[in-house]
Amino acid sequence: MSLKPNAKVVLEVRDLQTYFKTDAGIVKAVDGVSFKLHEGETLGIVGESGSGKSVTNLSVMRLIPSPPGKVVGGEAIFEDRDILSLSEKEMRSIRGAKISMIFQDPMTSLNPFLRISTQMVETIRLHNKELSRQEALERSIEMLRLVGIPSAEKRVRDYPHQFSGGMRQRVMIAMALSCNAKILVADEPTTALDVTIQAQILELIAKLSAKMGTAVILVTHDLGVVAGMCDHVCVMYAGKIVERAQTATLYAKPAHPYTEGLIKSVPRMDTSKKGERLYSIEGQPPNVIDLPPCCPFHPRCPKAMEVCRHAYPPLRDLGSGHEVSCWLYVDEKERVYE
Ligand code: SF4
Repeated sequence: MSLKPNAKVVLEVRDLQTYFKTDAGIVKAVDGVSFKLHEGETLGIVGESGSGKSVTNLSVMRLIPSPPGKVVGGEAIFEDRDILSLSEKEMRSIRGAKISMIFQDPMTSLNPFLRISTQMVETIRLHNKELSRQEALERSIEMLRLVGIPSAEKRVRDYPHQFSGGMRQRVMIAMALSCNAKILVADEPTTALDVTIQAQILELIAKLSAKMGTAVILVTHDLGVVAGMCDHVCVMYAGKIVERAQTATLYAKPAHPYTEGLIKSVPRMDTSKKGERLYSIEGQPPNVIDLPPCCPFHPRCPKAMEVCRHAYPPLRDLGSGHEVSCWLYVDEKERVYE
């Protein structure tokens, strides 16, 4: 967590909409998402599977498979340009160099048939054409050292399968940051790893982002992970952001019943009793095909009211950038529906 006061906005996503055409209907995977990411900030995007958090970031990276998916609306402003309207050639000079992404399973991004050196040198030279192979190799070794790979000068010649899961994720982080990216998108970067390694990888991302000034978008379903890492959090449900706040505020005063449920379902070392069942939010996330214009959380919400079944709640500012989309925060006189 290294957000400075008055830090510049490095990425502004406005009203992003990404839909998928399926035989059953239109899936509105992301429907009107807006957020700002500041220099040096770590922003958490949290939600259950299918909430739209990964699709949001894949849309910004222009990695949505089309068909069936398509960004049908919105903007993503980076360095004064809307990257959603750039040509694929222009986007290639940004993706991997200025905005990098790491995924849950590093093997989906590493080529199993090529040595790490080949893959890193190629990536570095693609975005830094003035560098010789030798210089790019030296940069690769330096990055592997920085992420804590022992004997980096030897291990750089290894193939991906010769590394453990945690070490592969370190290699991916080294590759992602090897061109001094301004933004690192980390999509569930620790889900496939055991708990001790998870903590090490998260610590590494935090350390490197502080050292290199990289802003991070951390996509996760785990609010426990967000607590120690993020400056701000956006909570997503059914393709929309339903609450956003500074991390400390979100934990101290969660406003949306869904956020409350997510926080209650995080195991606590201090208050959880032995043998106690962990809390879980009842029910399933909604099918996002042809969602009716109401609060999509209402079938699972313990505080649902009649208005929730008829109209989507407007966004309300609770102060200091804490925003929530829930009818509980709308004056009773304004809770009108047709
Ligand atoms: Fe619950 Fe209604 Fe708020 Fe939705 S709008 S979260 S159903 S209280």
